[in-house]
Amino acid sequence: MTPRPIRQLVPAFEVSEGAGVTVHRSIGTPALRNLDPFLMLDHFGSDNPDEYIAGFPDHPHRGFITFTYMLDGHMAHRDSMGNRGDLKAGGVQWMKAASGVIHSEMPQQTNGLMRGFQLWINLPARDKMSAPAYQEFSAAAIPELTLNGARVRVLAGAFGGQRGVIDDPATDVLYIDVSLPPSGRFSEPLDDARNAFVYVFEGDARLAGEPLATHTLAVLGSGDTIELAAGSAGARFILVAGRPIGEPVVQYGPFVMTSREEIEEALADYRAGRLVKAKATLAGH
Ligand code: FE
Repeated sequence: MTPRPIRQLVPAFEVSEGAGVTVHRSIGTPALRNLDPFLMLDHFGSDNPDEYIAGFPDHPHRGFITFTYMLDGHMAHRDSMGNRGDLKAGGVQWMKAASGVIHSEMPQQTNGLMRGFQLWINLPARDKMSAPAYQEFSAAAIPELTLNGARVRVLAGAFGGQRGVIDDPATDVLYIDVSLPPSGRFSEPLDDARNAFVYVFEGDARLAGEPLATHTLAVLGSGDTIELAAGSAGARFILVAGRPIGEPVVQYGPFVMTSREEIEEALADYRAGRLVKAKATLAGH
């Protein structure tokens, strides 16, 4: 048994997104452009409405998946597929933009805490121009288990005999939220066929013996287990893994394709009002 070590530490830094929402970005920064198949990780967390109230009015995506996990707060989602989502604390949303979606994500609160993550997952070239799809589940639908005092919520993929609510066939994504009690330990199998990262968002921890601060993303190296120990205040983190795609990544803002020509096409389609090619129906609730 070899614990997967820390291969790289990426402190999140503040950027302004949407109409002026403060987020903490780790993947998708100069220090870590992407971690195949992951393109971006934003952590939003603020109890100051000025930092989130403007939300994310209508904007396009093409070529990948957005995966949103709400920890606190309430956001409404509307998209060109006709979906109307209602994201509340503990709920998840998986939106395969693929050939093109225009959507908005707007806060439904004027004060209080808004906290969560948005992860962008790349699609293989063969799926980039496929039809969009949508999955959304509320907190009550998400399987939870207890492992040696740790509370684990399984959002996507299979873990500890549970199957997460989100099924991500292209890159076999595992996404779990783990809460460890003070000095709690988490030691589980995690093979290295998938790229993986840990992001601690409460407390602090040691990963494979190395200190891991809050709001710092750790990219995992090679091994076959994950070993994490919480500090004296406990720790809460997400662990995400996905099968690498191994294709070129050409990104221009919200369009992620495999060549410059495809980006030009996306821009031309968007300007001409033909980015949205397909409608899909709502799965989940
Ligand atoms: Fe978006």
